[in-house]
Amino acid sequence: MKAIIVGGGIGGLAAAAAFHQRGWRVEVLERAPEFTEIGAGVSIQPNGLRALDALGLGDALRSGGLADPLAGIRRTHGNWLIRNDVDGLKRRFGQWATVHRAALIDLLRAAVPAHALRPGTEVREVRPDGTVRHSGGTSTADLVVGADGVHSATRRSLWPRHPGPRYVGYTTWRFIAPPQPVEGSVETWGRGERFGYVPMPDGRVYCYVLANAPAGSRIHLDELRERFARWHDPVPALLNTADSDAVLQHDTYELPELPTYVSGKVALLGDAAHAMTPNLGQGACQALEDAVTLASAADILGVRAGLEQYDDVRRPRTQTITRRSRQAGAPAHWTSPPLTALRDVALPLLPRSLFNRSLTPAYT
Ligand code: FAD
Repeated sequence: MKAIIVGGGIGGLAAAAAFHQRGWRVEVLERAPEFTEIGAGVSIQPNGLRALDALGLGDALRSGGLADPLAGIRRTHGNWLIRNDVDGLKRRFGQWATVHRAALIDLLRAAVPAHALRPGTEVREVRPDGTVRHSGGTSTADLVVGADGVHSATRRSLWPRHPGPRYVGYTTWRFIAPPQPVEGSVETWGRGERFGYVPMPDGRVYCYVLANAPAGSRIHLDELRERFARWHDPVPALLNTADSDAVLQHDTYELPELPTYVSGKVALLGDAAHAMTPNLGQGACQALEDAVTLASAADILGVRAGLEQYDDVRRPRTQTITRRSRQAGAPAHWTSPPLTALRDVALPLLPRSLFNRSLTPAYT
């Protein structure tokens, strides 16, 4: 049996590794000239690590990644809005692993035979019968995985009437600051903007900034330094030490729900199927879950029944998490002074158990 994987990001490489481990021949078609990831961090949460365990890769990531979840959310002057029970979360759900994205890609790529990887190959059209037209010609397979991200060509080929991704109203900057001491992973909420930082295993600090802005606006690092200059430590220092050439800016998109993730011999996976806001840090974790579920269902049940089961199992879960992710981040992007004042008074009064309960469905 043969699977073609369109896209060699986290989801595509995980799917290739999962099919390869089950004895399938795989071919990974990746548009970029090499298999790598942008210069930013990624937090793989307990459920994502369990998916990696199914590939035999979980412990390698655990041993190389920062183990703690988000310590909490602060206000701009530093007081806590929400403080997580970090040890309790780890006892209940297991470890987290924050790593450089390239480290995760390297780990997954090493689990796929080198001859199966075809960088510099752009897919143009995918048909339900398993035919894939790409810049190097045409390939066919028993099963095709569309793992080509939020602007998926696979999805456009097979769901031409779907409206495509929707801009959610905020743009994101990511960068890795030079080594400096920070107390753990923290996010800080202002009005319509927030700043997060996560220590990396080598002492560097992965930082992300989200701010309301019209789609396509380009805002330079100097303006961010000015905007966040009066926020609590270490936010200004992290911005001041950032290298402006290494700051990545991307608008944030979410995918309106698809009625199904499968068409004929083709399945969508990861952001191609359910691109979500980064608020819960679940996009890559869900792509990993998709990959191992799809390979096991197709291998055990056969392509037709396996794809049906994949859709039955994965679509409700990923669409629920997409909705929760949108809701979880919404209060950070409120701009009304009375509403944010109310938020800042109300959130610290809520019991921690409420937050733990709201996270349970994603982590389990
Ligand atoms: P992608 O990573 O987009 O990979 C798609 C691949 O397909 C790319 O390599 C692309 O080059 C290739 N491709 C595209 N079109 C074609 C084509 N036509 N032909 C061939 N190849 C093609 N998730 C987490 O779990 N934890 C986090 O901490 C986290 N933080 C995030 C922070 C931010 C700011 C953002 C925006 C997202 C975050 N996410 C996080 C989400 C996560 O990054 C994505 O969900 C995940 O990377 C999706 O992986 P993917 O493989 O589905 O898609």
